[in-house]
Amino acid sequence: MANLSLKHIYKVYPNGVKAVSDFNMEIEDKEFIVFVGPSGCGKSTTLRMIAGLEDITAGELTIGDTVVNDVEPKDRDIAMVFQNYALYPHMTVFENIAFGLRLRKLPKEEINKRVLEAAEILGITEYLGRKPKEMSGGQRQRVSLGRAIVREPKVMLLDEPLSNLDAKLRTAMRSEISKLHKRLNTTFIYVTHDQIEAMTMGTRIVVMKEGFVQQIDTPKNLYHYPINKFVAGFIGTPQMNFFEGTLTRKGDVVEIAFFGTDARISVPYTYFYKTRPDYLTGEKTVTIGLRAEDISLDPEVVSKSAAVVKVKVSHKEELGNETLIYGDISMEGDGFTESNTRVIIKSYEDVALTPGETVNAALDLDKVHLFDKETEVSILPRIPEFNYLDCEARGGVLTFLGQTFRLPPAIHLDDGNYQLLIPTDAFRLGGDIGLACVETEVVGGKTLCSFELGGRRLFALLEGVHAGEQVRLSFDPKRISVLRGTEEVVSPLPSVASFDGMLKKVREVREVEKKGKIKRKKVVEFRLAIENALFNAPEKISDKLITVLSVHRAFTSKLRFECSPYDITFAQEGVSATVEEFLDYGTERFVRCNVGGKSVVVATAEPVEGEVHLVPDLDKLAVIQSDLDIRII
Ligand code: ADP
Repeated sequence: MANLSLKHIYKVYPNGVKAVSDFNMEIEDKEFIVFVGPSGCGKSTTLRMIAGLEDITAGELTIGDTVVNDVEPKDRDIAMVFQNYALYPHMTVFENIAFGLRLRKLPKEEINKRVLEAAEILGITEYLGRKPKEMSGGQRQRVSLGRAIVREPKVMLLDEPLSNLDAKLRTAMRSEISKLHKRLNTTFIYVTHDQIEAMTMGTRIVVMKEGFVQQIDTPKNLYHYPINKFVAGFIGTPQMNFFEGTLTRKGDVVEIAFFGTDARISVPYTYFYKTRPDYLTGEKTVTIGLRAEDISLDPEVVSKSAAVVKVKVSHKEELGNETLIYGDISMEGDGFTESNTRVIIKSYEDVALTPGETVNAALDLDKVHLFDKETEVSILPRIPEFNYLDCEARGGVLTFLGQTFRLPPAIHLDDGNYQLLIPTDAFRLGGDIGLACVETEVVGGKTLCSFELGGRRLFALLEGVHAGEQVRLSFDPKRISVLRGTEEVVSPLPSVASFDGMLKKVREVREVEKKGKIKRKKVVEFRLAIENALFNAPEKISDKLITVLSVHRAFTSKLRFECSPYDITFAQEGVSATVEEFLDYGTERFVRCNVGGKSVVVATAEPVEGEVHLVPDLDKLAVIQSDLDIRII
């Protein structure tokens, strides 16, 4: 088995460059994974950490069942293919392919067998006697693939293997590598900056930017459901058109207004069930994305469309099977300058257009993408974070969509009208809300259930519910938010407690018995300073801090410790805190404590008051280096 698991992987180079941040991914056996992103985004660094050619700063890498952070590259059962082939010029093709096996002292017959088999797969049998310089780039890359294949690795790593080849050869080699993957039946991880390569080869693609994973998904999902503007713009050619505008809800419809043109387009509100309501007030600027193929100039399509905008045509590019028409939705725009009004339209028909002419273009509203202008995150998410519901509070009872919910003592609300936010993952089966499941959709391994309630939709992540089924649900009251206008009057209970601190070295004098005599001996011990208290540092934590941060920085770095409110107990000694509030959520109870000006929530069975001492469970602590923001444990 060659599944890989990357957990909280970071890379900080000695010069301080943070090349990879918090990379998390589970790779199944036999997948073809592609890391893609612009130059410098951390793709190669991640691949090189998997190969063992680069140390992992923090995090855990597992291949099969083994944590391999400290395993030598040669013992990781992987093979790597590089862009520059790295062949030995004085050796023949046969010798180049056989080289690694000879080093490993495999029997001669076995080496012959494997080399001939690999050469056969790659179609280079007739060149086995040649030297690399007598071969073309494509053939040399085949040799370097051959060298990887004969090792029969569990995982094949390929770092831009085709970038030295010309366009035609690249296309041919792309399908050969895909075929090779099917034939070898091993896990492939492939790095490229070329989105077409990624889209045509990967079973799943990891899109990276500035060291951060943006989205991990199938090519189809990346194309249809990009989670942010970066992914939307990176995947697909020509690049997605981006416009700016506003969204205004008017009863059952939402009006999309584009800046730079008078065009207004009405879309049924049902389309925006998953969108945060404050995007629909007409006050926020949003980015509207539409791909070139989702805009049509076909008069028949235009005549039937309810979403038509005027486009001033500037020029076109004939690409053989398709034509790209450049224009601008603003009559002041020139269609050349990349702007928020420039538009590119893809047409598979030959269209007769004169530069300067104004035409009607139909937008395919089912294909519209919408992003927050500032954060660039999609505001039409596949899994919405929350359900946004109008509600009314009266005497401690909340009414929404015809349902009533008695607020627990921890939540105080004056009578009035509010907006209730219930996280999609805060529902559980069983409870007072009776509703019908209309449809279910599996997204990224999770099942999103849509329910009909009071004439609208409610979304919940639940397993085992089927479309058409009638179910009863409840939700976790400590997870809800309540808004009055834009003011949050009820906030969810924090799910983590966070403490500041450091690792400290203390010298202690101990009395030890040696040959029947009591001797005083100096010993060095490690302590965790967590806020104002000292704890014996578990070896697991001190060792990890010292290896990751180096001896010097382990003791000078500011650390943040995080744990769940359920993993803190009250004791005679520990972090001193003042209880500020007792929070009774009915089935669960908590106290909110003040720890040196910070708020820390702790689960408790009974009411607690006054000055207390908190002891976090050191085995369950997450340890974060604060300055670089690296999760060390
Ligand atoms: P990509 O493969 O996506 O082009 P890399 O993983 O090569 O990106 O690089 C990610 C970042 O790390 C870049 O900013 C790069 O300059 C930096 N980097 C790469 N290798 C080193 C190194 N050996 N020392 C210092 N910085 C490096």
